[in-house]
Amino acid sequence: MLPAHPTRRGLILLGAALPLAALAKPATLRRPAPTLPLVMLDPGHGGKDPGAIGYSGTYEKHVAFAAATEVHRQLAASQLCRVEMTRSRDVFIPLAERVGHAQRRAAALFVSIHADALPIPGVRGASVYTLSDTASDAQSAALAQRENSADRFGGPSFHDQPPAIANILASLVRQETRAGSAQLARTLVSSLGHDTNLLPNPDRHAHFMVLRAADVPSVLVEMGFMSNPLDEAALRTATHRALVAAAMSRAVQSYLASPGHAARTVS
Ligand code: ZN
Repeated sequence: MLPAHPTRRGLILLGAALPLAALAKPATLRRPAPTLPLVMLDPGHGGKDPGAIGYSGTYEKHVAFAAATEVHRQLAASQLCRVEMTRSRDVFIPLAERVGHAQRRAAALFVSIHADALPIPGVRGASVYTLSDTASDAQSAALAQRENSADRFGGPSFHDQPPAIANILASLVRQETRAGSAQLARTLVSSLGHDTNLLPNPDRHAHFMVLRAADVPSVLVEMGFMSNPLDEAALRTATHRALVAAAMSRAVQSYLASPGHAARTVS
């Protein structure tokens, strides 16, 4: 008599004695489809927080959302990953909640999308930022300060969080995450450099609150500067946004396919 829940080994042993039709593989024994990695896109700002206001009045939050939506579309079409966004409409979401959302959903990576402003209208070009306690340069420090000030519009703050758990395991996770962030940033810079203007030394780092997930490789892309008339005009067009989105999408796919990412996922 067959057991109610035969094991794979049990079925193999029974194979010699049973007709072929009885060996049809039960659904429960099929290998489950591997879950595709989740890419969390984070369109900067939103709702009562307009972000930077461009040279001719464009809001950063609109440009960031339009670009993120295009990256979402392109990545979803690739069928190589799942894609979600931290906001799917024009709504204010505090920085800590954006990070928390990526962590709760166990995202494989987090890409925050911005187009900020500096007091110098001549500065233009894309750049990519990773987290660091010390900024790579004064301009990056100022940008981080500006992005972090989004939380002045309200919501929970990182200052309410308990201090990081100081144990070896947590430190190893952080180390792995930083290695992943750095790899993703390099891939993005190289991909963006093909199609868009880059800032000098475009692979930068600073203390961005939205990149603070200890366990999700995270980068922040500044697609250009709303304070620069040429960058602002370009980012207002769907054609240019599609170009920038394609560069981001290629970089994410290349990162997910890299041996470094695979090794981090397995360990
Ligand atoms: Zn921004």
